Amino acid sequence: MIKVDKNKCIGCSLCVSICEEVFEMDKDGKSKVKSQKDLPCVKQAIDSCPVEAISE
Ligand code: SF4
Repeated sequence: MIKVDKNKCIGCSLCVSICEEVFEMDKDGKSKVKSQKDLPCVKQAIDSCPVEAISE
């Protein structure tokens, strides 16, 4: 399951830019998972997150 740790997320929105089918910015200014699609861009987002807040 794809997850964003909101305690770690700094709201840079990079994961949304990389993979907007899976991530979106939540009202609190942090990223959230909107769909559990197994797309290659999820791995890219995990690797690109500056604070390693995304896991699957
Ligand atoms: S890339 Fe990481 S820190 Fe940036 S919004 Fe996404 S989960 Fe948060």
